[in-house]
Amino acid sequence: MNPDLTRLSAAELAHAIASKELSSVEVVQSHLDRIAAVDADVHAFLHVDGDGALEAARSVDERRASGEELHVLAGVPIAVKDVMATKGLPTTCGSRILEGWIPPYDATVVARLKAAGMPILGKTNMDEFAMGSSTEHSAYGPTHNPWDLTRIPGGSGGGSSAVVAAYEAPLAIGTDTGGSIRQPASVTGTVGVKPTYGGVSRYGLVALASSLDQAGPCTRTVLDAALLHSVIGGHDPMDSTSINAPVPSVVEAARRADVKGLKVGVIKELGGEGYQGGVRARFDESVALLQEAGAEVVEVSCPSFDYALAAYYLILPSEASSNLAKFDAMRYGLRVLPEGVDDPSAEQVMAATRDAGFGDEVKRRIILGTYALSSGYYDAYYGQAQKVRRLIANDFSAAFEKVDVLVSPTAPTTAFKLGDKLDDPMSMYLQDVATIPANLAGVPGMSLPSGLADEDGLPTGIQILAPATKDERLYGVGAALEKMLVDRWGGPLLAKAPQLTAKGA
Ligand code: GLN
Repeated sequence: MNPDLTRLSAAELAHAIASKELSSVEVVQSHLDRIAAVDADVHAFLHVDGDGALEAARSVDERRASGEELHVLAGVPIAVKDVMATKGLPTTCGSRILEGWIPPYDATVVARLKAAGMPILGKTNMDEFAMGSSTEHSAYGPTHNPWDLTRIPGGSGGGSSAVVAAYEAPLAIGTDTGGSIRQPASVTGTVGVKPTYGGVSRYGLVALASSLDQAGPCTRTVLDAALLHSVIGGHDPMDSTSINAPVPSVVEAARRADVKGLKVGVIKELGGEGYQGGVRARFDESVALLQEAGAEVVEVSCPSFDYALAAYYLILPSEASSNLAKFDAMRYGLRVLPEGVDDPSAEQVMAATRDAGFGDEVKRRIILGTYALSSGYYDAYYGQAQKVRRLIANDFSAAFEKVDVLVSPTAPTTAFKLGDKLDDPMSMYLQDVATIPANLAGVPGMSLPSGLADEDGLPTGIQILAPATKDERLYGVGAALEKMLVDRWGGPLLAKAPQLTAKGA
């Protein structure tokens, strides 16, 4: 038996639990111990639910002992981004405005994790309302990158990627509106998948931009992501945009791990100027590996991608300004009374609450969104952006006529220093230049560690994109590449991260 259970993958843990080599209680306890040892440094959790997780683990162990047939991942613990409603557990979205709010219901994703018998370790840190690329916009302080605690873990779901990178959880749930699963995966040396839009229910996911949001797996291996994807995916009548079709055969594809005869398109517009040398070098190497393994590689141009970031920063704030209108001091969380006003009106309470409860980035986007939607400007901004969105979807369609999958670097740089981009929103926004097109078009994307950059020794990521509903292709290519990269680097990349230990240990 491995002395440190936290180093095992979810697939390995699942196997050991199913064969009764390990109990779920042991597995959960070792992760809780790990959290207690390192999370003061990493700060990836906003809330740890030790009692709840152990109780769920005990119940799985009992059901297993009584011979009940259980889900493959039963007993394997997981962490959930704090943007998902969890019945009885705080859900803050990284915001003061939801401080103290305890949802009365579970998001569908959470309900499915529970139904599969997966103990929930806690809720992970994030940029406020999922706006950001570094977790520095969390009202509760940033998460630190386990590779280097002075650096960002990516965002907005930096907490979910950091918990898997720091071995605090084998699996986590993230959400990706413009890159918030894939960019954190890239800068923490982990795997992150944004499924096809509509592939995973958004019911109970606190909306940032409803037409872009999608929840997905944050893991250390491609197979683990596939196993988790099949738990959370599939039709949900509670989400009107949910796809009514079976979950793509992602686990099978991950196990097959084959690229022979596959056509891979390198996106011309993503990867040139503005991308760090080490990111590009590792990307080129990964592409060469795919070619060696029998894939046919061609360059593909997607000219409208140059306008994706601009379109996104009109569409996202527009939807966000509307979605965030519900935080009005009447229904949830915080209520602040304006100072020095006797008998304040509802409007005054609303204004005081939103002023105190929302951080700068959220305010910035609400202002941008209401402006873009205002009469007189609607056609010029929101309308134009929607047209660009269509052109981007057309670029994808044309590209997928020629190739089976598209690839690019995931993020233009490795993890930057905490504080580096806080005063420069534009440079923060550029972190998602390669990930945003997939959200605008609704296609699935995966980020996989491609190696370490020579200049700073930090992890780099490669992004794989597939046509909508063909998520299995990400897993086939991802698993094949992962195998080759493990050989190339002499083991899993994360083994090269400085090993965090308890303070003073
Ligand atoms: N970083 C992007 C943003 O700030 C993406 C956010 C996300 O995917 N939730 O909008």
